Amino acid sequence: MKTKVSIVKCKDYERIKVEQAVRKAFDLLGGIGTFVKKNEKVLIKPNILSVRIPEDGVCTHLEVIRAVVKSVKDCGAFPFIGDNPGGSLSPAKAYEGYGLISLAKEVEVELKEAKGIKVVNGIPIASYFFESDKIINLPKMKTHILMGITGAIKNMYGAVAGLHKSGLHKKFPSPEEFANVLIDTFKIVKPNLVLMDGIVSMDQDGPSSGRLRNSGLLIAGEDSVAIDAVFAELVGIKPLSVATTRKAYETKLGEADLRNIEVLGENIKDSLINDFEIPGKLGLAVILGPFAKFAAGFVKFGPYINKRLCKKCMICRDSCPVQAITIDLKISNINLKKCIRCMCCHEVCQYKAVGLKKNLLARRFGL
Ligand code: SF4
Ligand code: SF4
Repeated sequence: MKTKVSIVKCKDYERIKVEQAVRKAFDLLGGIGTFVKKNEKVLIKPNILSVRIPEDGVCTHLEVIRAVVKSVKDCGAFPFIGDNPGGSLSPAKAYEGYGLISLAKEVEVELKEAKGIKVVNGIPIASYFFESDKIINLPKMKTHILMGITGAIKNMYGAVAGLHKSGLHKKFPSPEEFANVLIDTFKIVKPNLVLMDGIVSMDQDGPSSGRLRNSGLLIAGEDSVAIDAVFAELVGIKPLSVATTRKAYETKLGEADLRNIEVLGENIKDSLINDFEIPGKLGLAVILGPFAKFAAGFVKFGPYINKRLCKKCMICRDSCPVQAITIDLKISNINLKKCIRCMCCHEVCQYKAVGLKKNLLARRFGL
């Protein structure tokens, strides 16, 4: 039997439109009652990357979270919300800055913060991820400067608490190794249902400093791998060129072959997002095919701090796994000799003060 993925159009974040679109996306899959049962505890896992406002397009939109909370409650189940933002940022600060605390009060659900961790196969997971009967994953449709795109699989890395995320970057610095960590995390906290917020998506230098696109889409399904495969197809790249999708598919965690995915609602052809610009080595892999590995050695890139934009908040410095960042009254600087290019500093900076330097070859291939 084919894996089902629904695509529903939704032009903007007007509450009633989002509510209807979310319901339709679930109904096409048989209704939310197929996935969530009465009295179950349901963890809703949005992407709350850092202290941003909804208009920044960095985090799962509040109206999408609100609509999913409503759907879960309508089933007679008990939703709660939780995520772990990047780097040294506390969840409380990110929730507050994003307006999630007010939303949680309004819809009367608990917002979780990691009080403890449970280490599973070497990965420190926030313990509340094991307190739910079901998990609903709400990724944001975005590019990722290190991984190419960030979708349903990568969003579950938010289960790793606080600075443990940076610690894993240090232990597994290459994108390939890091993709294995993402897959291992995904296996531990595999969600039961996914709804990707692509009403406003982000291309170019995502996941926090890219260009916003009014793509007007919600994508839903049970299979995170299939969701990421459809996302890739919609933005014009081969699903298996995304390391996380390929590894998850190869380890039989889900379906990435579009011939085995039944798309319900809108079809892929009518939902394509044109000129979606993907950053990072993924682009190189796609352009150069078999020569990508060889050429990648000549492609140099690294983060830098735009001193004009830097507010010296210290979050990047405290989040850097190898202490490569110096911020004081006179200096905001990154030591590229120490830097392992994990791009955590880029993710956590809410002022878009961390950019990416590229050498000539990197620029030549549009990376
Ligand atoms: S670069 Fe960004 S995160 Fe780092 S200190 Fe400056 S403003 Fe803060
Ligand atoms: S300076 Fe380098 S190692 Fe440190 S957070 Fe930024 S990219 Fe990662």
